[in-house]
Amino acid sequence: MDRFEPNLRIPGPTALPPSVRTAGARQMINHRGPEFAAMLKRILDGIKPFFGTTSDVAMLTTAGSGGLEAAIVNTLSPGDRVLGVSIGSFGDRFAKIAGIYGADVTKLDAEWGYAAAADEIRERLRGMPDAKAVLLTHNETSTGVMNPIPELASAIREETPDALILVDSVSGLGAVPFEMDAWGVDVVVTGSQKAWMAAPGLSMIAASPRAWSAMEHARMPRFYLDLRSHREAAADGETPFTPAIAVVFQVDEGLRLMQDEGAEAIFARHEACAAASRAGLAALGFELFADERHYSRTVTAANVPDGLDWKAFNGTLKERGLVLAGGQGKLKGRIFRLGHLGSVTVEEILGAIAMLEAASIESGRPVEPGAAVAAAQRAALASKGIFSMSVAGTTA
Ligand SMILES: *Cc1c(COP(=O)(O)O)cnc(C)c1O
Repeated sequence: MDRFEPNLRIPGPTALPPSVRTAGARQMINHRGPEFAAMLKRILDGIKPFFGTTSDVAMLTTAGSGGLEAAIVNTLSPGDRVLGVSIGSFGDRFAKIAGIYGADVTKLDAEWGYAAAADEIRERLRGMPDAKAVLLTHNETSTGVMNPIPELASAIREETPDALILVDSVSGLGAVPFEMDAWGVDVVVTGSQKAWMAAPGLSMIAASPRAWSAMEHARMPRFYLDLRSHREAAADGETPFTPAIAVVFQVDEGLRLMQDEGAEAIFARHEACAAASRAGLAALGFELFADERHYSRTVTAANVPDGLDWKAFNGTLKERGLVLAGGQGKLKGRIFRLGHLGSVTVEEILGAIAMLEAASIESGRPVEPGAAVAAAQRAALASKGIFSMSVAGTTA
């Protein structure tokens, strides 16, 4: 595997474009100097359109889960009633964080593989008019399902207008449209290692004006994660603590590539890659795990077929350089996941499908050579916008 890079098809960390890798190898700079200040401003301003907000964004050195913790501890107080809507393991995690800090959490669990239903949320909130917050997952990476956030948010707004809507979009934002202000969402969390084409280490968190004002009264304990100190420092071009500067360089370069490509083209590329992934896997005889009405556009989950020795099959794939993700939590051993977010191209997806096809044929599964690749290629070509696609960062 020395001469070839693996086809890293997990839903984060995602593969880095060459210029992002170079950016991460730069010499350190003073994080209290003008160069850092300019870079921080560029990032915070440049990322706002992807959140769909004009409100303030904070950038913290932490994993995505630290961003979720920040969303909770900054806006809530112990004893607050919270509805934790979960459609998979990341939804469970979000609710768990709230519970650990003393919120009075009611869980609403969808069957894994399905999106949350607006009617069920509405009904549950009817019994908790004093709800202070509702927790939602935008893109549930563990099941490959994307929740219809505008629909869910509007149901929440109608039923409990004062409840804050906190959204985990760690694996969605940057890859698909998001309109935080227009949809009435209060806090949105994302992470550098997903759509942003950078290494893990930074979490970007946007808060609505009413979420920022809730922070003045919220009583959950917080120090490092206090978003107010991050906002104050950012106004002076700084972070309150030493940031992961190498990752900041990378996010800065990743955003530059994204601005070059343009949001519409990025979203179209993700749609094409998702369509190719679904069509290719289906043509290989893998049943897709998610409800077809709410497929994720950044990760596709498929059932491990009865009789397939997944460990051996996946071992073959790994040897040849295709890295897939297994199932999480109760889906361990039952599904596998193919990530298609960040710097992904349709050709990389076709490559992954070709490798899955070869391994399928070798393991005796009834597959026609080239059929799955053709199905994936057709799906990508049929997906709108694909013809304007170019490789991020190249103009040749
Ligand atoms: C990756 C991911 C997270 C967690 O990110 P970490 O950086 O591993 O903490 C949270 N939510 C979702 C939906 C994710 O995909």
